[in-house]
Amino acid sequence: MTEIYRTTLPDETATQQFAAALAQGIMPGDLLALAGDLGAGKTTFARALIRAACGSTEVEVPSPTFTLVQTYTAVDGTEIFHTDLYRLKGPDDIEDLGLEDERGASILLVEWPDRMPADWWADALKIEFLHYADGENDGLGVTVSAESPSWQGRVDALFGPR
Ligand code: ADP
Ligand code: MG
Repeated sequence: MTEIYRTTLPDETATQQFAAALAQGIMPGDLLALAGDLGAGKTTFARALIRAACGSTEVEVPSPTFTLVQTYTAVDGTEIFHTDLYRLKGPDDIEDLGLEDERGASILLVEWPDRMPADWWADALKIEFLHYADGENDGLGVTVSAESPSWQGRVDALFGPR
């Protein structure tokens, strides 16, 4: 994994704006691996990205912790699968979700991606969230990284080269 971008998001509105910006640059076949501890901001980010991609702030985006997978349709017709692998034990459980068949034509948002099959990382954009508190301020630190070099140019196009 090579780090390609990092930023800080001082409040939830900043998280929503960051997600909406990324929503402009993703396409079918993309897998966003949303990493970070419980309460780090993975679902908040996914919710804002889905609402931006679906063109409506009214879309209900529950956490997929219990349903495991939630499906949405973006304005361009692309299906978005939002999944949370926290409760899954291993590769067999993940196979049962049927996401492998959807990967090529859809967008996948994966919380707790350390449970993903190893080969899924090859194309993934990893977005890691970490709360910080430096006395007066608290917010989220975000680190974006990928194995595939194609992501560097795409992220630069969205957020500017470092
Ligand atoms: P996860 O899915 O990683 O368990 P959630 O998205 O459910 O986390 O919860 C994240 C929490 O952090 C929410 O309470 C949300 O309001 C808060 N939050 C989101 N973005 C920021 C931010 N930039 N700064 C501070 N708090 C944030
Ligand atoms: Mg969550």
